[in-house]
Amino acid sequence: MVEPQCSPRFSIVVPIYNEEDTIPELYRRVSAVLDMLDGPSELILVNDGSRDRSLALMRELHERDRRVCYLSLARNFGHQIAVTAGMNLARGEAVVVMDADLQDPPELILDLVEQWRLGYHVVYAQRVRRQQEGWLKRLFAFGYYRVLRSLADVDIPTDTGDYCLMDRSVVRVLNAMPERNRYIRGLRAWVGFRQTAVPFERDPRYAGPVKYTFRKSLRLAINGLVSFSTVPLRLSTYLGLMAAAIALIMAVLVIYWRFFEVNSPLTGFAAIAVAVFFIGAVQLICIGILGEYIARIYEETRGRPLYILSEVGGFETLTEPNL
Ligand code: UDP
Ligand code: MG
Repeated sequence: MVEPQCSPRFSIVVPIYNEEDTIPELYRRVSAVLDMLDGPSELILVNDGSRDRSLALMRELHERDRRVCYLSLARNFGHQIAVTAGMNLARGEAVVVMDADLQDPPELILDLVEQWRLGYHVVYAQRVRRQQEGWLKRLFAFGYYRVLRSLADVDIPTDTGDYCLMDRSVVRVLNAMPERNRYIRGLRAWVGFRQTAVPFERDPRYAGPVKYTFRKSLRLAINGLVSFSTVPLRLSTYLGLMAAAIALIMAVLVIYWRFFEVNSPLTGFAAIAVAVFFIGAVQLICIGILGEYIARIYEETRGRPLYILSEVGGFETLTEPNL
């Protein structure tokens, strides 16, 4: 892998997808924080196939400030993979992962580092309030994290995003995980070590539209559930048992009506139609759940690389074949 040139103490990994409006402000605030850290640091910007001037801005920043390194993925691989790529190349003893849109205030890094000094291996930022996010999204997030917590095999803390600091020992473990459907906040909880939370208020997005579309958010949500829980699979069994119970009751009722209430309208076509649709729905839901798991088995076995790099800056020791 990458040989560290000079070894920075802190790495800040920021995934970037069409964020040309925020990059200058991001750099201003993060570099101010880097100046305050005691030790050499690097800011790793990961271009996740942006179609605007983001990459050009990154090159410029790299020319101006050698602490800024960048890597560019060959296309849009998605947020989780972009973060993974940044973590793979990060050289610091402590690695911070942060969003580009300044919803995660960079100044909080100082608090994260403080906890790291106290001996914690994972320090995650836990939001106490979300500003200016629609009530629907807030409600969904609130419900989802609680459902996930009750179903997942690991203890995934509620209301935490990917904003966190990880010790090198944790980063090493995460980097060694080959899985493709990465739910980083789950994997991070799964590895164990000493973990702690730092509360913070989530700011509104600095500029530009949200890059996580509804579809991408839904994908991530399903990923989290499927990667960390097999309860949905058991759900098929429960649904099947429920359908069987209802069928049994129906059978008893039909026999009763046949003998004692010959003119009952319920024995006719409507009852049959409802039963057929019900069973059809149960079966399709079960096949769908099964499909989610099988699709993941298929994806993992293909063994394609997680991402493809098309350009890097600031990783001079990275040789061509890695690109
Ligand atoms: N992002 C990315 N690839 C994507 C979508 C988003 O790298 O396909 C980045 C984006 O640039 C930002 C972060 O992921 O730095 C979070 O995105 P956003 O703020 O849109 O989502 P939120 O989590 O705030 O809803
Ligand atoms: Mg955001």
